[in-house]
Amino acid sequence: MLQVNTSRRDLARGLAALGLTAAVSPALAREAAAGNLSPAAIDAAVKAAYEKYRGLNEGKNADYIPALAKVPSTYFGIALVTPQGKVSAIGDTEPTFSIQSISKVFTMALVLQESGEQKIVDSVGVDATGQVFNSIVAVEQHKGKEMNPFVNPGAIATTGNVKGSSPDEVWRKILAIHSDFAGRPLEVNQEVYKSESDTNQRNRAIGMLMSAYERFSSDPAVATDLYTRQCSIAVNAKDLGTMAATLANGGKNPVTGKQVIDPRHIPGVLAVMATAGLYDDSGVWLFHTGLPAKSGVGGGLIAVSPGKFGIGTFSPPLDAAGNSVRGQRAITDISNALGGNPYTELPA
Ligand code: GLN
Repeated sequence: MLQVNTSRRDLARGLAALGLTAAVSPALAREAAAGNLSPAAIDAAVKAAYEKYRGLNEGKNADYIPALAKVPSTYFGIALVTPQGKVSAIGDTEPTFSIQSISKVFTMALVLQESGEQKIVDSVGVDATGQVFNSIVAVEQHKGKEMNPFVNPGAIATTGNVKGSSPDEVWRKILAIHSDFAGRPLEVNQEVYKSESDTNQRNRAIGMLMSAYERFSSDPAVATDLYTRQCSIAVNAKDLGTMAATLANGGKNPVTGKQVIDPRHIPGVLAVMATAGLYDDSGVWLFHTGLPAKSGVGGGLIAVSPGKFGIGTFSPPLDAAGNSVRGQRAITDISNALGGNPYTELPA
């Protein structure tokens, strides 16, 4: 928690450094600094960011998966969920879209839960590659090692490491953990699944290569297909907010009350989100927000302030690095307004 008995002047300086003045009133900012967030303060911060960025017209939908280019670029929704289960949602928080790379977080969680930390460290790695998410050079550099579960080679290997005696059994587990994080039964967007399956030759090559380097032992064609399916799971911004809040709440879904994964696995998941969640821009993002986060090319973005809140946003236009433009701006403002950056914590 930020220091409560700090002087007004120190507080004002700190808040200014966090960029708070633009989005929220001084009264709300004081409340945030005291770590004392009322539902009204949360709603005000979410609304302010929505109003500020709804007209922003930068970026472009992903189109290398043809179905993604057809999603209306105007969609914009934000949902913040607290560990107490309070949901603050605004804009297009009901329409569903494909989760894409954000699914990598939850399949990683599944493998951690089933097989433990060492499995991920040994088979995939937990290092940022410094390369684009579907880089083959990154695979070659260390012969399939020293990657992470959020770049495509590491993600396909992670999916390939889910235990199961048949592809169906593995799929049921992947869909179940996503549904448990979201707190409702999720389904695949079949149009996106077909569109990506028809155009994923590069991912199939990556899956083969990771198999050749013995990063997983299941059939690489099956692993790539299951990976493609998990990327096509349909979610809305509220689902993403709840999924992020489950991570913020030690693995317990704050809306359903279900403990989805053991709390001991959360720091590892958040660490990889912090170092590799926003592709090549992960460092820039972390510098400005301090928040573990994960983006998807469908326009979704999640961010986690441990113990404080999870946020999910949906806005399809992406920047050059492949991250939702409005999502990044909105989350940055909201987190700043609510004191979400864990690196600003001072002793109580
Ligand atoms: N399914 C997408 C792919 O493999 C996911 C990429 C992403 O969201 N970054 O290319």
